[in-house]
Amino acid sequence: MPVQVIDGAPETLLPSHLQKVDLKYLQWGCDQANKYFQGTVILSYPLTKLVNGTEFFKIVLQESENSCSKTSTINVLFFGRLADDCGKVVHQGDTMVVAGFNVAKSPSANEDDRHCCHLEVSEDAGSAVYIYTKPSTVTASETASMPVAPKYTYTPLNHLKDGTIVNLYGAVKFFKPPYISKGTDYCSVVTIVDQSNVKLTCTLFNGNLDALPKIYKIGDIVRFHRIKAQRTNHTEHLSGLGLQLDITTTGNKAKKIREYNKQMQGITGIGFASLTFDGTVGAPIVPRTSSKSYSFTEEEQKTIEELRTWAASNLSVCGPTAKLSDVQPMLFFDLTCQLVGKAEVDGSSFLLKVWDGTKCPHPSWKVLVEESDLEGDKVLIHQLRNLIVDILVYDNHVKLAKSLKVGSFLRIYSLHTKQASAENQPEVSYVEFHLHGGTCYGRGIRVLPENNPDVKELKAFMDSVNLTESQNVESMSSMELDGIFSNLSYQSYSQRCQQLSVTVLTDHQHLDDTALNTILNSSVPQQYRIRAKLRTFKPQKLYQSVKLYCSKCNSLQEVPDGDDFDLILRDCAASAPNPEVHNSLWYDSEVWDTENQEQRKIAVHFVKHDELLQEPEDTLIMVQGGTLKEIRKLSRRFKCIIPVRSTKEDLELLDLSAPFLLQGKIWHYGCKQCSNQKTIQSLSSLAEEEPSWEPTEIARVLGIEPLQYVFVMKFTLDDGTGALDAYLFDYEKFFQIPASEVLTSSLLQEKMEMIMNILCPPGTKLDDLPWLECFIRSYNVKDGMEQQVCYQIFDTMVAEDII
Ligand SMILES: [Zn+2]
Repeated sequence: MPVQVIDGAPETLLPSHLQKVDLKYLQWGCDQANKYFQGTVILSYPLTKLVNGTEFFKIVLQESENSCSKTSTINVLFFGRLADDCGKVVHQGDTMVVAGFNVAKSPSANEDDRHCCHLEVSEDAGSAVYIYTKPSTVTASETASMPVAPKYTYTPLNHLKDGTIVNLYGAVKFFKPPYISKGTDYCSVVTIVDQSNVKLTCTLFNGNLDALPKIYKIGDIVRFHRIKAQRTNHTEHLSGLGLQLDITTTGNKAKKIREYNKQMQGITGIGFASLTFDGTVGAPIVPRTSSKSYSFTEEEQKTIEELRTWAASNLSVCGPTAKLSDVQPMLFFDLTCQLVGKAEVDGSSFLLKVWDGTKCPHPSWKVLVEESDLEGDKVLIHQLRNLIVDILVYDNHVKLAKSLKVGSFLRIYSLHTKQASAENQPEVSYVEFHLHGGTCYGRGIRVLPENNPDVKELKAFMDSVNLTESQNVESMSSMELDGIFSNLSYQSYSQRCQQLSVTVLTDHQHLDDTALNTILNSSVPQQYRIRAKLRTFKPQKLYQSVKLYCSKCNSLQEVPDGDDFDLILRDCAASAPNPEVHNSLWYDSEVWDTENQEQRKIAVHFVKHDELLQEPEDTLIMVQGGTLKEIRKLSRRFKCIIPVRSTKEDLELLDLSAPFLLQGKIWHYGCKQCSNQKTIQSLSSLAEEEPSWEPTEIARVLGIEPLQYVFVMKFTLDDGTGALDAYLFDYEKFFQIPASEVLTSSLLQEKMEMIMNILCPPGTKLDDLPWLECFIRSYNVKDGMEQQVCYQIFDTMVAEDII
C-alpha cells in the first residue's frame, strides 16, 4: 500500500533497507532508490488536476533536524493516485516519510528559498508514503483511555442561550492573567470573540492555576468545555457609561443601555476544561494544557485555522508590546523579559530585576535593597547592569512575584513607565518601572514556557548580545541595538492598529466620512463624520484639561487647588464659632477644642431629619473652624460636608472660591457670577423631606449655580487632506471617566494617560498613528469684531476594546 497513515512515532514500521537522507546531501542525478526523506508538513496546497488530467498535489516538508538552516525546506510533488490519496489525509504539522522518489531541479528555488531540488512522488516511480499523524491529534494514551472519543459540539457565540452549559471556541480579545482572588481560588477574566463578531466575557475560577487557560497574548485561540452562559445584570458596568447623560435621551439609546445591562457572560461550570493555542496563522497547532487526557479532532484543527485567519484580519491585536529599547516615559506596555534577580522591598512591594537584551534609551531608576536580600547570580547581575531594569510590583502581584524563579522568562502586562527626577537635582530625570496593584487592563505577570516562540526568539537575541560591549554600552546607542533586533510583532501591532479606529461613534452612524479639506472650505455651521489621526493634543499634562464650567454663563475656570481652600479655611478658623447660632430645630451642634496651642475650636453641625440624627453615611454636616486635613477626614465618614462660618445672626457659606459642598472626594463649586446665595436656613426645607442630599438639590436651595467638571482639550486632527483643531468638551462620555473624579483618583489619571497613549502614542510618525472616527461640528465664535470658525468633537467615545 503506497500511502500509510500511522498513529505513532516515525521510524516504526519502516522497511529496514531504507536509509535516511539529509537535505544537504540530496543531489540531482543521484540514485535515491533506497533512500527516504523525513520531514514535517508545513504547507499543503489544494489538490488539483494537471492539464493532462493527472491528479496533482504539492506540499512543503521541513527537515526537523536542521530546521534552523535556511534551506531546511523542500517542495514535494505528488502525481496520480498518490496525489489523491495524500491530499485527502495530510495535515499541516504531520510528520511524513517519503521513499522511492525522483529528484528534479526545482524551478521555483530562486523565489521560494527552498531546496534547489524537489521530490517527485508517484506510483510509477515506486514511491511509498508514510504519514505520522500529529501526537496531539490522537495520542497513544488517549486511544487507550478513550476508545470512542466523545464528540463535542461547539456553540457559536451568537447562539448562546441563558443558563446553558456549552463548549466554545473563540479568539482572545482581552484577558487578565490569573490572579489570586479573594478566596483561595485563582481567577482569570477572558473576553473571546468569534466569526459571528459576538463577544463573550468569561470569568474563570479554579483552585488549580494550571486549569485556567494559558493565554499569553491577545489573538490566542481558546477552547472551553463546559462553560456556563448566563445573562447578567451588571449595573456596575453602567457607572462608566455616562449614564446620566444617556438616560435623559429616550428611545433608542435607553433601549441600548437596557440591552447592555443584560449582557451574556460565561462562568466556570462543573468540569470546566480549557485548551489554548497560539493565534499566529501557520504556527503549529499544539494545545497548551496540563491535562493528559483531552480529545482533539481533525475538524477542530480546521476550526482553529479558520479562527486564526479570521482573527488576523478582524481582531485589533493592540497588545502594546515593546522592548526596553522602545521605552518612553508615560507608557503602558507588555514586556517579555528574563528575570535575573528579585528582592522583597516591603510588605506591599517587591523588586524584579529583568532584561530583554536591549537597552532602555533613558536612564532608569535603581531600587535600593540590601545586598543580602537580593536573590540571583550577583556576577551576572553585575555583568548585565547596564541592560537590567528594576521593576517594582505592588499589592496583589507581590505574592506571585515572590514565587517566580530567577532565570525564568516572563511577560509583564501593562507595565507603567513613569518619569521622575531626583529631589536635589530636578534637572536629572530618570524612568521608573511600576506594575501597579489591581488587574485593570489585564495588568499582571505570566511565566512563559521555554518553548514559547517569543521566548525562543528572545533567547536567540540575548545570546547574540555581546556583554563586554554592553558594559561600555554608553557608547552604543539604542538605535544600533534596534537595528540588530527587528521586532516583528511590534510592527504588525502598529500596522493593525492603523486600520482600526480607536474611537467609536455613539450616534449618526449613517453619515459618510468627510475629508478635512472639504470641511475647512465649507460654510459654517455644519456637522460631519470624519476619520483622522490625532497629531497632537493640548494640554499635554492631562490634569490641566479638567476645568469648571458654568452652563448658565458659559464661563470656564480653572479648578482651585487644595491650597486655596486651605487658606480660606485657616482664615475662617481665626474667628471662634458663635455659640448663639448653635443647635437649632434642624441641626445639633458640637464644639471641640483642638489640642495644640492655637486654641482653635471646631464646630460641627449635624443636620437632622424628623428631629433625629441619621447614620453618618447618610448625614450632612456643616463644619466651622476645621483645617483641610480635618475636613478631608470627616468627608470619608459623612455623606456631605458644607464648610461654614458664623455671623452674629446665623451660619453662612464661605466665599465661592471655596467648594460649597464636599461629597467624598468630589468638591462642588458654584459660579460667582450666576449664584444668588440664600441663607443657610434654606437647607432646612431639604432636611424635612427624606433627604438624599443630591448636590444639584443642595445647590438649588442655597441659590447656587453649580459649576460642572469638564474635560477641555484641543485635538489637532489630520487625515492627510488637511488638519484642523477640534475642541473636546466632555463631562465623562468621551473617556468614560467622570471629569469630577479624575483629579482625586490616581487610578483614573493613569487610565486617562493610557488612553491618550493609545490615541496618540508619543514619538510615533503620523503614518503609524491609529485612526479616530469622530463627529465634529463647526461653529462661529465672535471675538470682538473678528469672526472665528471653531470645531468641536461630539457623540464620540473611546472604543471599549482599548481600555
Ligand atoms: Zn455662571
